[in-house]
Amino acid sequence: MDSVSARAAAAVVCVGAAVCCSRPPTLAADLVVTHANVWTGETSRPSAAAIAVIGDRIVDVGSVEEIERWRGASTTVVDAGGRRVVPGFNDAHVHFVSGGTQLDSVDLKDADSEAEFARRIGERARSRPGQWILGGDWDDQRWSPPRLPTRDDVDDRTNGTPVFVNRYDGHMALANSAALGRAGITEQTADPPGGEIVRDARGLPTGVLKDAAMDLVRKVIPAMTAEQRLRAVKRALEHAASLGVTSVQDMNPSYEDLAVYADLANRGELTARIYAAPLETGWYDQARLGIRRSFGSPWLRIGAVKGFADGSLGSTTAYFFQPYADAPGTRGLLSDEMQDVAQMRNRLMAADHAGLQLCIHAIGDAAISQVLDIFGAIVKANGARDRRFRIEHAQHIASKDFDRFAGLDAIASVQPYHAIDDGRWAERRIGPERITTTYAFRSLLDRGVRLALGTDWDVAPLNPMLTIHAAATRATLDGRNPNGWVPAQKITVPEAVAAYTSGSAFAEFQEKEKGTIARGKLADLVVLSDDIFGIAPAAIKDVQVLTTIAGGRVVHQRNP
Ligand SMILES: [Zn+2]
Repeated sequence: MDSVSARAAAAVVCVGAAVCCSRPPTLAADLVVTHANVWTGETSRPSAAAIAVIGDRIVDVGSVEEIERWRGASTTVVDAGGRRVVPGFNDAHVHFVSGGTQLDSVDLKDADSEAEFARRIGERARSRPGQWILGGDWDDQRWSPPRLPTRDDVDDRTNGTPVFVNRYDGHMALANSAALGRAGITEQTADPPGGEIVRDARGLPTGVLKDAAMDLVRKVIPAMTAEQRLRAVKRALEHAASLGVTSVQDMNPSYEDLAVYADLANRGELTARIYAAPLETGWYDQARLGIRRSFGSPWLRIGAVKGFADGSLGSTTAYFFQPYADAPGTRGLLSDEMQDVAQMRNRLMAADHAGLQLCIHAIGDAAISQVLDIFGAIVKANGARDRRFRIEHAQHIASKDFDRFAGLDAIASVQPYHAIDDGRWAERRIGPERITTTYAFRSLLDRGVRLALGTDWDVAPLNPMLTIHAAATRATLDGRNPNGWVPAQKITVPEAVAAYTSGSAFAEFQEKEKGTIARGKLADLVVLSDDIFGIAPAAIKDVQVLTTIAGGRVVHQRNP
């Protein structure tokens, strides 16, 4: 324990003991937040006006007068000016390096026509000829009428520059002819299991590759350099700090990503805490070292694995019991790894036996059902314990499965922004019946299922205000459902904030360390421009983060 931690521990012990509470503390705080409208997230003391911090820990929470006693000559004071203070946000599902990379690559997310899409790609090719154009996050549903792009849209603007830009959900991508050529994809190439090479009427690849078919191109893209990776992580950290995100749970990072996080953690340069869940197919890498769930330091932990059961709704690859309403020929696709369900079950069972936490992406009702089957089999084989199974996304749950979900104590790791995004077209895709249990946050909470909120950044924006706004209003991005899309599934703002702080902390076994504002907890705090509990939920999307404090250090500050 370093001297700062020792002082913080001593202070926590002191203020925790009733006998000394009436006496002024003998230690000065390193940081005090005062004149604040604090939402603590603690039922025993839901509100407060000031917070004292020593080192990286909260040592006291109380009135302005009570906390004033902690102020010393060298105490940093953050005067919140009466504004709302909440615990730092913990995004339970991000792709941190892709997010950081995306901040630096071609942005196609709001390209609202195929002409604009092609123009931006062409501009990029002109400015950096020959360098792979990646990322993009295009959204064909913005075009009228919506249609998938083809290589013909971009070939004449890119020439020899390879293009491989993904749809925003990450489940399909468009390759131009140069990229297809490098990958050796021709009309003769067969669809790989769990993937599809989209073809035109003549049988020629259009350039769109779905799910596992994307790997054919991915494997010929030159790897990121260490320097590019470090730059992406630093950009991502800055972006997170600016939005009040003090913890992220990173889904399927590469081992190279972990090495960068570890380096930054050792240098004390992480400004967001990272819990990393590499792919489940590599579970043994962690297990053989004896690493278990949530192993590490407050800044960087591992011990989880992330798996895939199916694709996405937007790519028609989420796996359902019944066919798609707008594509009656398909029920979607189980992932590559789930093609052999027995093997997937064995791997996950072994990973669980080794003490690793399981986080499984499942979107369609049949995929979720199959994952619950696997979870049930694991409990039966390995015995009951506090293992906190997670279903990532958990978008379309069959009515019959809600109780099973709750009974397994599975956590729903959900992204409300997807609801207001997909809500524009989901009914067309799966019909009026299935949407009633889609993004069913209310039903999940009512059944006692714990929610952990996140964004899936860079699939959706990292901004927590957009996520809370989405959860509380369910107002779709096209403005067509101002009173909410499937409004019965709205949750309240306090419920959303709790799920985004203590809920996400629980999902990573860290609820004793963070997620609420209380003595002894990590000092991760956010000052907001407006009171999100007092204003109309529709206005929350415009709320700004003024100050972000991570581990007692101010990592972002902007003027109101
Ligand atoms: Zn994801």
